[in-house]
Amino acid sequence: MSVSDAPAAVDEARLWRRHMSLAEIGATAKGGVDRQALSEEEARARALLAEWASELGYAVSVDGISNLFIRREGTDPALAPVLTGSHIDSQPTGGKFDGAYGVLAGIEALQALDEAGIETARPIETVAWLNEEGSRFAPGMMGSEAFAGLRPFDEIAAVADRGGTSVADDLPRAFAATPGAERRGIGFPVAAFVEAHIEQGPALERAGIPIGVVTGIQGVRRMRVRVTGEEAHAGTTPKSARRDALWEAARMVDALQRRIHRDDEHRFTVGMMEIRPNVPSVVAAEVLFSIDIRHPDSDTLARLEAEVDGICRNSLVACDVETWTIAQAPSIWFDDGVVDTIESAAVDLELGNMRLFSGAGHDARQLSFVCPTGMIFVPCEKGISHNEAENASPADLADGARVLAETLVRLANG
Ligand SMILES: [Zn+2]
Repeated sequence: MSVSDAPAAVDEARLWRRHMSLAEIGATAKGGVDRQALSEEEARARALLAEWASELGYAVSVDGISNLFIRREGTDPALAPVLTGSHIDSQPTGGKFDGAYGVLAGIEALQALDEAGIETARPIETVAWLNEEGSRFAPGMMGSEAFAGLRPFDEIAAVADRGGTSVADDLPRAFAATPGAERRGIGFPVAAFVEAHIEQGPALERAGIPIGVVTGIQGVRRMRVRVTGEEAHAGTTPKSARRDALWEAARMVDALQRRIHRDDEHRFTVGMMEIRPNVPSVVAAEVLFSIDIRHPDSDTLARLEAEVDGICRNSLVACDVETWTIAQAPSIWFDDGVVDTIESAAVDLELGNMRLFSGAGHDARQLSFVCPTGMIFVPCEKGISHNEAENASPADLADGARVLAETLVRLANG
């Protein structure tokens, strides 16, 4: 298939400049970004996106949960738009590209279509979804979940951060950032959604391939384990009389690592542990820790989840244990039509590409329940992300934006 003029109009230097400008907002001393959802920094980033959109003549709108949309009109405005985008919130020690790339590649693609003089039948909108990361308000993916009707607004609005501030408390700050934006209801018909993102893993870099055609997102189980023991004096309580919650939690973590984290295909993480009273000379009375299990096969995932409780119980010495699941998402597969469109755009642009499965969750998971959806990955340095050292090359980012621009043209005229 012949390629439109849009990919050639993608401007590598301009795309890179916008990344660096956006990364100044919430910049950390180590070169990363702290721009958590509904913070002052995130509001300033919204204002910058709206400023760029206005300069380019695009309409900006915001829905009731503060998802931000930038619209390039189609020749038939009544048709459902093709949507692209990602998120601009970050982890507290996040990088310059996770999320930001998908939004900035979306803006670059719209501008490239303008400069190539391309009209599309459908409108194309670039979206920044609210709170993908979930670091301040957990769990994340709030904007895309609300948009897809997977979680009610009131439930999301009531979620509070550690300081007791709720989403509802801080939503006005997001709305105030784009005072000229039209207000929309949450959720509307979408013809297709394409999200560009850094890979956040090492596969593309290792293979020396610039474009990842993502076929789906692996499922996840998030669990909690509470180990209950008894507070006791470190100097006077003999071992035989102790119910040491921290020691027994450590035994569990080790056993879980050996039994569940079997190989590289299984992903098992204990990333959070809260110890009470967390005092050096007191035997711990209670430990709460998190479990994150991922695997591409949903049945395997369910089996692993079922093993957790028994493994924890077998590690007990004198404490009690309780395990429960707080979130579960099955593996999903993207729409064949969108995946094929992305792949043929890369092939026609003569860009090396490979199919891969996403290890990380993305807003595209939620959108896949309401419209045909796909993702484009570009390499990131050493696969590092959720880290201030996160990096990607200007050339790779531009290649991904070229594939995105061509994909959007094909979907919006198809
Ligand atoms: Zn992301």
